[in-house]
This record gives sequence, C-alpha cells and structure tokens, in this order.
Amino acid sequence: MHKAYDVLIMGGGLSGLTLAIQLKRKIENIRILVAEKASYPMPEAAHKVGESSVEIASYYFEEILGLNSELENELPKLGLRFFYSYRDNQDITQRIELGPSIYPYSKSYQLDRGRFENALIQHCLKLGVDFQESCKIKDIALGKHEHTITLSQNEQESSVQCEFLVDASGRMGLLKRKLKLAKPAYHDVNASWFRINHQIRVDDWASEQQWHDRVEEPRWLSTNHLLGKGYWVWIIPLASGATSIGIVADPNKHPYAEFNTFERAIMWLKKYEPQFAGVIDEYIDKFQDFLTLKHYSYNCKKMFSADGWAITGDAGVFLDPFYSPGSDFIAMNNSFISDLIVKQYVGKDITLHVQQYEKLFRTLFLAFGPVYEDQYPIMGNAKVMSIKVIWDFTLYWSGIALLFFRDKLTDLEFMQVAGMQLQQIYQLNFQMQGFFRHWAEIDLSTQDMSDIFINYSHVSFIQQLNKDLHKQLTDEALQQQLVLNIAFIKELANEIATEATRLYPDLKKYAPEMQEGSSKYLQDIFAQLGAVNLSAPL
Ligand SMILES: Cc1cc2nc3c(=O)[nH]c(=O)nc-3n(C[C@H](O)[C@H](O)[C@H](O)COP(=O)(O)OP(=O)(O)OC[C@H]3O[C@@H](n4cnc5c(N)ncnc54)[C@H](O)[C@@H]3O)c2cc1C
Repeated sequence: MHKAYDVLIMGGGLSGLTLAIQLKRKIENIRILVAEKASYPMPEAAHKVGESSVEIASYYFEEILGLNSELENELPKLGLRFFYSYRDNQDITQRIELGPSIYPYSKSYQLDRGRFENALIQHCLKLGVDFQESCKIKDIALGKHEHTITLSQNEQESSVQCEFLVDASGRMGLLKRKLKLAKPAYHDVNASWFRINHQIRVDDWASEQQWHDRVEEPRWLSTNHLLGKGYWVWIIPLASGATSIGIVADPNKHPYAEFNTFERAIMWLKKYEPQFAGVIDEYIDKFQDFLTLKHYSYNCKKMFSADGWAITGDAGVFLDPFYSPGSDFIAMNNSFISDLIVKQYVGKDITLHVQQYEKLFRTLFLAFGPVYEDQYPIMGNAKVMSIKVIWDFTLYWSGIALLFFRDKLTDLEFMQVAGMQLQQIYQLNFQMQGFFRHWAEIDLSTQDMSDIFINYSHVSFIQQLNKDLHKQLTDEALQQQLVLNIAFIKELANEIATEATRLYPDLKKYAPEMQEGSSKYLQDIFAQLGAVNLSAPL
C-alpha cells in the first residue's frame, strides 16, 4: 500500500502531537500522518516523565495551539517552590523556603502526560490528522523532499511516502541513530522517578498555622523541589489524583547505584529526605511505576535539513529537568519546524532558514547549559541557590521567553539584532554561573538558618518581568525592551557580585567587571538570608 503525505511524524508523544496541531492550524488541508507505536488510549499518571510546564510551553499550549479546554482538565501550577535542607530534614517548617505566595501572572500547568496526550490525540483527529496507533516505524529511506517510510501495524508492513519527515520518537531517536547524529553532552546527572496513586500534599506535613498562613494558595500545586547538596527531589501533583516523585542527583555526590531501583530510591529518601520518605511510606501500597535514567543529558549534531527532515523533542537533545525546560524546547523547536514545513509547502527554498534555525537552536542549547552544568553542588546552599534561581528566572523571562511570546524566533530579520543581544546575556550568564559556583563553596552562612520564607511574589522586578511577557509591544518597542533588560541584568550581576565580594573578597577573581554603587533590587533577600557572615573576616 502506498500513501502520500505532506508530513509524516514518527512518534505521537508530546512533541509529535503538538507539532501536528500547530501545522494544522497553519495549513488546514495539509496531509499529516502521525505514526505512534503505543496503543491508544494512553494510561493516566503512570505514562511518561515531563509533567511540569513553565511559561514558554504554557504559552505555546494556550495561545499557539489553542488548547485551553484540554488544559482545564490539568492542574494549574503555583510556580516553582524550593525547600533547602535543614539539619536532618525532618521538619518542613524549619527549611528555608523559596517560592510564591500567590499564582504568578503568567499561567503554567502540571500535566498528567497520559491524560494530556489522549486529549491531544482527540484534538488531532478532530483537525483531520491521520493518527495511527500501534504503528511502528520499521525503516526510513531518506530522499530530497521525498522520503519512504516502512511501517508495521497489526503485524502488517506497508510503506508510505512523505515530503517532510519529522522525528518525534523520543529517546528512541530514530533519525539520530540512522544518520549517526548522536553527540554526547557534558552534563552528567542521573534520575529515578515513580508515581504514587495518592495526592501527596506538602501542606499536610506541618500543622503550624504561621507556616500555612504565609502562602495564600495550596503549596502542593507548585512543582515542589526538596534540595540538598548535589540533588533535588521533585513532587508534582497530577490531575488524575496521583503524585509524581523524582530524585535527580549529581553522581559525584550521590552515586546512581544508590537510587536506581525503587527499593534503593526509598532507602535513599529515608536517608536524605526522611520526612518525605515517611509520608510516602503511608501510601506505598499505591505505588504505580518506577523508571530510571543514567546520564540523561545528550546532544544532537543536526536538527533540521534542507532535504526536508527535522528532529524535535527528546529525539534531539535533552539538557536537564530542573526548571522543566523540556516542553519549552519542544515549543521552540516545533515553531522552527512548522515554519520550515509551511515554507516548503508553498514551494519556497528553505536552505537559509534551515541554517539560521540550526544556528539559533544550537546557541539556545549552549546558552542553557551553564545554568545546570556543574551547578548541582550549589543546591545545598540556600543563599547562593536562591540568588541563582532569581537570576535564572530573570534571564529566562527577560530574554528568550519575551521573544517567544511574540513569535519572534522565526523572524530572521528581527533575530539578527536580537540574537546578538541574547549573546550578550548568555556571555554574562556564563560568567555569573561560575561565580555562583565559587561563591557557594565558601559562603556557608545559611547552613544553620531555618524557618525563612523568601517570597518571590514580593520581589517586584520578578513579578514585573513575568507580567511583561504579555505586554503588547511593537517590534521597535520590543528591541528597546531587550536593551533595557540587558542593562537591568548587568545591574543585577553587579549587585550580586558587589554583595558577595564585600564579604568574600577572594571571589573578585571570578566576578564580572563591577561598577561603583550597586542597585538594591535584592537587598530584602540578602537581608533575610543574613548578609553578615560570622566566619568571614570583618
Ligand atoms: C528525569 C526527567 C524529568 C523531566 N521532567 C520534565 C518536566 O518536568 N517538564 C518537561 O517539560 N519536560 C521534562 N522532561 C523532558 C520530557 O521527557 C520531554 O519534555 C517530553 O517528554 C518529550 O516528549 P517527546 O514527544 O519528544 O517524547 P516522548 O513523549 O517519549 O514521545 C515519543 C513517542 O515516540 C514513540 N515511538 C518511539 N519509537 C517509535 C517507533 N519506532 N515507531 C513509532 N513510534 C515510536 C513512543 O511510543 C512515544 O510515544 C524530563 C525528562 C527527564 C529525563
């Protein structure tokens, strides 16, 4: 049997299904086949990892794909929340907490991946996408804008032709394997995760009224992170009533063999996160699934081709889940791919765009790297990590997210200038991430601090940047906004470096160039976390 499609998407997970919807919204009559080897419907809760979304992905789902009604069946997310280690981690109220007290202005979601993918499949079918379940890609013969794919469905083989081929096969990385595009990533971290069919609510871990009252919304709706030196543990609620729990750790501090089975993961939690382990123990009979990944980070040599193929989602690259950027990368990548497909569909040459998108994608991947690479030891340091988180939020909202919310990544003319501006941000970021690392090694002043709430709903510039994502801006005003944001980021870097080097002059060799007279954007946080370090020379 021979069938011809404009686009064939290999893999109907998050990246493949969202790409199909994005394309159908651009060209109603485009013929798309999504070939997915699993059978539909997908199970709820115990399906896939990648349940927490942040602003770029949420905007993509809501505004670019129009999935508002599907998102109503998921949970609204109360931002990212972090609890630092305090002594034996037996009392959540004693742990320094960094998080919001109210919902951030820009929405984000906790996604039950099984439920969401089922809804995406329904949506695809309504739009006229040919979604084939239990349909496995067996072979790929690439040509120039004409590829032949062999499929196996119900033990029958068939071949189909398509003009544009997209690999969305997740970690199977079908095209990457075929074309030998795999590229190792430097970042070396391991993860294990499992689901418990019970809604674990961090709010229930303590009865102290004051601790409850300082956050206006239910804390359990945040992506809750329990942090310690070299590790973080995620607690993500799912709309189906389950809780997703993950351990992510740097092997230099926490060998993979200590948490790579369910039994070992529980033992590990009992050692490092005993209060949480005690809560899990109550519901252990509701265990649903366990999965684990060694060295989860990887790169890919090439993502887009002028011959009419592209790679998206986990089939391409993966860096780190700490700030949940996986679906952000899907959103950005799918936007590049949609643009290429639309151009090819109307007969335009895509060579230049392929080159430019590849360059931009690579810049983004490289730029995100230093946020995570070698940074896991900082997680044990409440002061430095809190400042780093605020810094990381600032860069994300004032740069790449600002551009994505205005659909600018595929505007090559605009990106010529904006790309150089992003480079400036990324260079400074590279230096600041190194600075945070060295600072965390010597400033141990928060080690014995407890019961502090750093409420980022009260950090006005953070709230403003988050809100400004939705501000109407002309291209000219957007350029100006980027210029202002870069100036602001430099001021912030100066303030951080000035404060840290005042107490630890040895850090000057790692600091960015400093100016006299620093700003006071972070003074409340520094005051809360005790700027005076008793062990530092006076
Ligand atoms: C520890 C960890 C935590 C993470 N946490 C987050 C998070 O909180 N937020 C976030 O956004 N991201 C997170 N991610 C990243 C997350 O994995 C991705 O965001 C997302 O799942 C990738 O979706 P995908 O569609 O590319 O891949 P998948 O969802 O894996 O989909 C690929 C599909 O291809 C199908 N397939 C494979 N081979 C074939 C074949 N031969 N024929 C046909 N079909 C095939 C599979 O059945 C599957 O359905 C995390 C990743 C890790 C490792």
